[in-house]
Amino acid sequence: PSPPTARLDLDGNPVAPLTICMIGAGGFIGSHLCEKLMAETRHVVLAVDVYCDKIRHLVDPAPPHLAGRISFHRLNIKNDSRLEGLIKMADLTINLAAICTPADYNTRPLDTIYSNFIDALPVVKYCSENSKRLIHFSTCEVYGKTIGSFLPKDHPLRKEPEFYVLKEDESPCIFGPIVKQRWSYACAKQLIERLIFAEGAENGLEFTIVRPFNWIGPRMDFIPGVDGPSEGVPRVLACFSNNLLRREPLKLVDGGQSQRTFVYIKDAIEAVVLMIENPARANGHIFNVGNPNNEVTVRELAQMMTEVYANVSGEAPLDEPMIDVSSSQFYGEGYDDSDKRIPDMTIINKQLGWNPKTPLKDLLETTLTYQQKTYKEAVRRQMSQSSAS
Ligand code: NAD
Ligand code: UDP
Repeated sequence: PSPPTARLDLDGNPVAPLTICMIGAGGFIGSHLCEKLMAETRHVVLAVDVYCDKIRHLVDPAPPHLAGRISFHRLNIKNDSRLEGLIKMADLTINLAAICTPADYNTRPLDTIYSNFIDALPVVKYCSENSKRLIHFSTCEVYGKTIGSFLPKDHPLRKEPEFYVLKEDESPCIFGPIVKQRWSYACAKQLIERLIFAEGAENGLEFTIVRPFNWIGPRMDFIPGVDGPSEGVPRVLACFSNNLLRREPLKLVDGGQSQRTFVYIKDAIEAVVLMIENPARANGHIFNVGNPNNEVTVRELAQMMTEVYANVSGEAPLDEPMIDVSSSQFYGEGYDDSDKRIPDMTIINKQLGWNPKTPLKDLLETTLTYQQKTYKEAVRRQMSQSSAS
């Protein structure tokens, strides 16, 4: 591939190549961001993670046309003195590292809080002390529950956008009680957002905070028993993909009534590249990144995935494609849920002119085609081995 040509920012100025320290580069979002930056820009990436499986094709070894553009640094940011040096070498740090699967929030609350707050502290500190720009990944979960969720079920105000649309600089953060340990993640993310914001206000840290709203696509999480632990519980896309690959019913937690908006990872990555290349427009802002047009209940998602998978695989759906499970059976005690997540898009639209493009049906087709191609054979082999033993 030929090297990408010079790029312009949204104001028509050339973008100088940057060195980016990307922490958590080996994860789902990081892998797509690395691919995009390598394919379309001249930026250099220092990729930091404890794993590189999802970016192996870019770093182990780097293909010749990427020589000098990307390097992998295997380190745990909890306890590695090389971190500050990497942040100092870079113009910009992007922190994606986190424990971010709901099955962990109520069962490993200490790890969740340490990962999302304590371990992120040195990253913020090194950026602030060395006057380096920081793009920090938070979550839409910092909004918690909608105001409308506290109204009676059939109350007309529940339909009014002021009661559910989530606005970066206006909506409150509404979490459940401490015994509902689900909120340990949201609370840790909220506190690190507040700390970053305060570093900006008191010490001039140049920051951008990203709140992803259910970004999904290929390489998200793992398929239990294939490239992750058999008893592991990934996020919903991988749970439902796993059920479909194994011809098991999809499990609907507490009736599958919660609502989510899903955005295609490749659309969302375009928003991140705009943030990287337009610091004057992105600094000091918190951005929702999601697709308000792709709203479904979890039950509707299960129905759509069942239909799309039947087309992709040519296998007829099961007679009973879904079953209900309680949240305490599925996740254990202390689980709670966000009821509805519609991102307000005003700020990202105004600052970066970004809009999501891909409808849910299309992104599920692409993603389930990938899941079937990547995992079907491995799942078949694993199932025949476990039935033989
Ligand atoms: P992911 O789990 O795929 O990626 C996180 C990566 O960070 C992993 O590769 C992990 O190995 C790495 N990591 C974790 N702790 C580390 C440590 N101590 N040292 C080094 N590396 C470490 O998750 P993702 O979906 O790519 O999410 C990235 C970020 O975006 C997270 O901060 C998450 O909270 C946030 N987020 C994502 C979504 C989404 O829709 N995918 C939604 C809300 C928030
Ligand atoms: N969920 C479900 N069945 C599953 C996995 C998840 O019904 O097998 C539900 C979960 O209870 C939540 C929604 O799907 O309401 C989305 O879960 P996910 O793990 O993707 O993360 P969240 O959006 O809650 O952060």
